Amino acid sequence: MNYISLLVCPLCKSKLERRKNQLICKKCKIRFKIKDGMPDMLLGHVEKI
Ligand SMILES: [Zn+2]
Repeated sequence: MNYISLLVCPLCKSKLERRKNQLICKKCKIRFKIKDGMPDMLLGHVEKI
């Protein structure tokens, strides 16, 4: 099992949805990029969707 599928949103702790090279929280309407297989979850790097 890919560990990325176990990650939760740092804001609301709900499950993140994987979309190619990004992780999306539908609840918060934010997304994180995955760089070289590592999710970039720094809050300053979060993008609104
Ligand atoms: Zn969230």
